[in-house]
Amino acid sequence: MSTANVYVGLGSNEGNREAHLVGALEALSRIDAVAVLRCSSLFDSAAVGPPQPRFLNAAVALECGLAPQRLLTILQRIEQDLGRRRNGSRWSPRTIDLDILLWDGEVVADPNLQVPHLELHKRRFALEPLVELAPHLKHPVLGVTVKDLLIRLDPQDVRKLMATQWPEASPLVNES
Ligand code: ATP
Ligand code: CA
Ligand code: CA
Repeated sequence: MSTANVYVGLGSNEGNREAHLVGALEALSRIDAVAVLRCSSLFDSAAVGPPQPRFLNAAVALECGLAPQRLLTILQRIEQDLGRRRNGSRWSPRTIDLDILLWDGEVVADPNLQVPHLELHKRRFALEPLVELAPHLKHPVLGVTVKDLLIRLDPQDVRKLMATQWPEASPLVNES
């Protein structure tokens, strides 16, 4: 089975945010054909767009033997299981949001799935945790490393937290 190195961004701004991230991590580790390789630190960030509660964000590195569409379906199922309800508004608070940020050096341009995530290069709350995991990873469309994308960004309200229950970032794999 061929596998890919996949990076997923996690966010929560409703209820017990850390518990939701931990729940998502546990669910990810239970997926057949997916191994969780590393977790970033936690970051507390101001919501983008209209006012709403602050987010807790993180990223995880996966070794994934599934197709991108299959993983997306499973991520959406995990969101539902953790109490996410879509009420039509893009900006409403959510128990959990799971976005596929990067899929090796691949580009996916399906109507319901774009990878790299289209907003990745604009978002400090996504790039900060990603840079912890793999600073030298190249964005396949923009042709620059995620570390360089982060350096170029304007300041945004994103604060690294000391982990509590959440796993500390651990160097289980080599960066590529
Ligand atoms: P944003 O995409 O700006 O972060 P959001 O995460 O709040 O916004 P959602 O309501 O969670 O948006 O998802 C809207 C749709 O985005 C999903 O139904 C999904 O099909 C699509 N989508 C496109 N690309 C991706 C991706 N890389 N990861 C997850 N979902 C994606
Ligand atoms: Ca999102
Ligand atoms: Ca999403």
